[in-house]
Amino acid sequence: MSNGPTKRAADWAETTGFARLDAEAFPDFLPGWVWLVGAGPGAPGLMSLLCYHAMQQCDVVVYDALVNPDILRWVKVGAELEYAGKRGGKPSPTQRDITLRLIELAQAGKRVLRLKGGDPFMFGRGGEECQNLAGAGVPFRIVPGITAGVGGLAYAGMPATHRDTNHSVIFLTGHDASGKMPANVNWPAVAKASPVIVMYMAVKHLGEIAAALIAGGRKADDPVTIVSNASMPHQQVASTTLEQAGAFVAAQEPPTPAIVVVGHASDWRSVLDWYAPALRENPIG
Ligand code: SAH
Repeated sequence: MSNGPTKRAADWAETTGFARLDAEAFPDFLPGWVWLVGAGPGAPGLMSLLCYHAMQQCDVVVYDALVNPDILRWVKVGAELEYAGKRGGKPSPTQRDITLRLIELAQAGKRVLRLKGGDPFMFGRGGEECQNLAGAGVPFRIVPGITAGVGGLAYAGMPATHRDTNHSVIFLTGHDASGKMPANVNWPAVAKASPVIVMYMAVKHLGEIAAALIAGGRKADDPVTIVSNASMPHQQVASTTLEQAGAFVAAQEPPTPAIVVVGHASDWRSVLDWYAPALRENPIG
C-alpha cells in the first residue's frame, strides 16, 4: 500500500489528526512475511505507528500473554487472533511450537503479525524466533517496542539514567531457561558494575538475588522498587531495601508482571511520580 513519496504539508492540509497518517508511505506488509513487533509495556498509547500499521495489514496475529488485550481491539476486522501464551494452568506452547506455527502460517501465504509485550529483543526470545524464521527462509521485519524496563520506570517516575545518580544501567533477568535464578550471571560483578540495576522476571527469586548482590558488595540498605503492571491503570509501585526484599516479597506478594529496580533511581520519585490516579481513568496511557 505504498503511496509513493510523502506528500507535502499543503497536500494534506484538509485532513487532520490521525487521518494524516494515511497519506504516509508505510512499508508494505507482504503475504508470506512475519513482522515481529513489540507492543510496548501495556498502555495502548505506547505502541509504535509501525505496530498500528501492521495491525491494519495483517491476516493473523500471534500474540503473547503480556500483550494488553485492549490493544487487540484495533486489529483489522477479519484478521485471526491466535494466543501463544500460558492459559489457565495448562502448559504454554513451547518456543518450538510457536516458531513452527509462525513458519506454517507464513508459508501458507499469510501476513503474520507476531506481537510481543515490550520489545521483542528484550528478554522476549525474539532473536530465537527470527533465527528459526531465517533458517526456514521466511522473510521478516522487526519492529522494536518500548521495553518494560524503560517505559515502566518512566511511568513510575524513575529515570533509567540521571546525571546525578547513574551514568550506566544494567538490564538483567532474574530467571533462566530452567526457571531458576540464573547461575551464569557474575553477581559480584553486577553488584559493582552500575548504580542502577533493572531486573525482569525477578520477583520469584528476589530474596536470593538480593543476597547475591549484598554478598557481592552492594549495600544492604540500597533501595529496591517493584513496579507491577507498569503503564496500566492498575499499576502499583512498592518500595523496600535489598536486605528486606526477600521477606517483603514473601509477605506482600507484589502482583506480576513486575520490574524490579535496585538503586537510587527511586529517589526521583518524590518529584517525578506523575502517574496520578486521575490520569489512570484514561486507559490509552
Ligand atoms: N519483551 C518484554 C519482556 C518480556 S520478559 C519487554 O521488553 O518488556 C517478561 C517480564 O517483563 C516480566 O516478568 C516483567 O519483569 C516484565 N514486564 C513486562 N511487562 C510489564 C509490565 N507492564 N509491568 C511490569 N513488568 C513488566
